Amino acid sequence: MRIACIHAHPDDAEILAGGTLALLSALGHDVTIVTLSAGDCGSTEQGPEETAAIRKGEAAEAAALIGARYRWGGFRDLAIFSDDASRRAVTGILRELRAGIILTAAPSDYHCDHEATSALVRDACFAASVPNYTTPSESPALAAIPHLYFVDPIDQRDRSGTAAAPDFTVNVESTFATKTAMLAKHRSQRAWLQRQHGTDDYLRQMEEWTRACGAKSGAEFGEGFRHYTVHPYPQEPLLQRLLEAYI
Ligand SMILES: [Zn+2]
Repeated sequence: MRIACIHAHPDDAEILAGGTLALLSALGHDVTIVTLSAGDCGSTEQGPEETAAIRKGEAAEAAALIGARYRWGGFRDLAIFSDDASRRAVTGILRELRAGIILTAAPSDYHCDHEATSALVRDACFAASVPNYTTPSESPALAAIPHLYFVDPIDQRDRSGTAAAPDFTVNVESTFATKTAMLAKHRSQRAWLQRQHGTDDYLRQMEEWTRACGAKSGAEFGEGFRHYTVHPYPQEPLLQRLLEAYI
């Protein structure tokens, strides 16, 4: 099964779904991590071009740890909007990836790029199967709308501060060490936070969130997901079936 996780910035996929992606990859599925932005604003030392190059390299290393591919969506930090050109671009990416399961950002999250990514990917999933909808990509339309899932928002809280209510939680105890190793590949972010906070806050924060998410379902570590089943998106619980032993 081809599976793609499309989020906004390098490290979001690792923080929110790294353990689940590691499980899926270990089960033999073909996993791609896409970040719409390359995270060009995530540095106080380097300029945007250099920062983006560094962060793309780190994201590729993190994906490689689980045998996954990494791809940049061509957007910039704080410049992801759900508009005509962006929807066509993201639809083109979906047509090239040809994944049957898509994981993306939560519709309500602390960062504007996360929310725009969520809306873009949701709508691009619909558009990808519309033959007359043109994109910058040469790839033909998909045969059907992919199965769509939202990862939890950061800190499991939406923009209003309300606790997220995932449809299901994946037990990632067995891949938590891999998830940590993936996130640790984002060295530039660790360095930035170490300077800003005087502590290795990055990994600790992720551990805290993953532990809190797991605790709600009796697991040591967990990652929460919502299955988007609004008409006419596919209702079949495909991801839940693949991860049956871990839910
Ligand atoms: Zn982000």
